[in-house]
Amino acid sequence: MASLPTGEPRNGLGVLRPLTTDESAIRRQGITNMTCRDSSQWLNANPAYLFNRMNNEAFTLAYKRRSMRRLMGSRTHCVCGTEIDLFGDHVLVCQRVTVRNQVRNTGHSDVNNDLRNIFKSRQTAGHYYVANGEPLMDRYLQHIDVAAANPDEINRRADIALIRMGQDGPGTTLIDVTLAAHNIHQPGPDYTVGLAANNSALRKHQFYRRLYQPPGPDTQLVIFAFETSGSIHPEARKFLRDHVAAGTTHNPGLEFGNIIKTISVSLQTALAKCVLTARTRLTLDQPPTYPYITGPLVLPDPPSRLYPDHQLPRHDAVPSLSRRPLLLPLRALDPAPPPSIPVPPVMLSLA
Ligand SMILES: [Zn+2]
Repeated sequence: MASLPTGEPRNGLGVLRPLTTDESAIRRQGITNMTCRDSSQWLNANPAYLFNRMNNEAFTLAYKRRSMRRLMGSRTHCVCGTEIDLFGDHVLVCQRVTVRNQVRNTGHSDVNNDLRNIFKSRQTAGHYYVANGEPLMDRYLQHIDVAAANPDEINRRADIALIRMGQDGPGTTLIDVTLAAHNIHQPGPDYTVGLAANNSALRKHQFYRRLYQPPGPDTQLVIFAFETSGSIHPEARKFLRDHVAAGTTHNPGLEFGNIIKTISVSLQTALAKCVLTARTRLTLDQPPTYPYITGPLVLPDPPSRLYPDHQLPRHDAVPSLSRRPLLLPLRALDPAPPPSIPVPPVMLSLA
């Protein structure tokens, strides 16, 4: 691991001049591929399992991202006027909150739903149930100072709540799902994978410590922080591992691995959706005359070109095969000759 690249390049052209937006995005993705196991788990997921399904577009986009190919076609600029990278990841951290939320909110809710499904599918074996909707945190946690908190903070809701009905009494696990943008420091010198998730989890913990008393013995608060690179925060991993170990009798390690793969598929699908949204609604083929500041978003013209050349779906995913002839041989189109009926040999009796 120590020999793998990290941070700014120390040799080559990158030493002489700052990296371009595309180059830094490619470097970031390369370092992610090499140093983060969780980022590639979706490649090993069993597609026959219901929650591991990816459609063709999502798979192609995820594969192209991993291969560091251009996803944004002819798009060059965000509607805010900033130059975008080849993956369109700028929209995740765009300074305009309306643009950012177009992809961030959708991504968060998609991943949240998939995680809820994972917990739901295990609730019988794990002796708990998943609360419907998003319960108020106030019901389970004690405010430090209600008067000082603003109404948004009082009405804070947990993303997922697991209610346990064990022999040692009822217990509650409140899960706050956090999706951190991996390129939050872009174009930054630090390409460490997982840094954004760490910062995000730290910020959330500080926030809850400021707002609520420490949870009682029956209540557990878990910050489930992901990063859009695919990295999962150690706290979330540990919670998931313990959760699986408690509810699985046969091979909990395998079960844990499968859940990590399902989460990875979910993240990649959310990212693919983010790319599609960015490409059709949030980016332009040239710098905007009037950069977007506020107000409703206008639907831009579609990109003039999506791919450098015509590519078959999943062309990059499998080794190329020799092309099959599309037309049948001409001979097959001719009217078929009348079938010749084999004449049985006449048995001559020589007797
Ligand atoms: Zn922008």
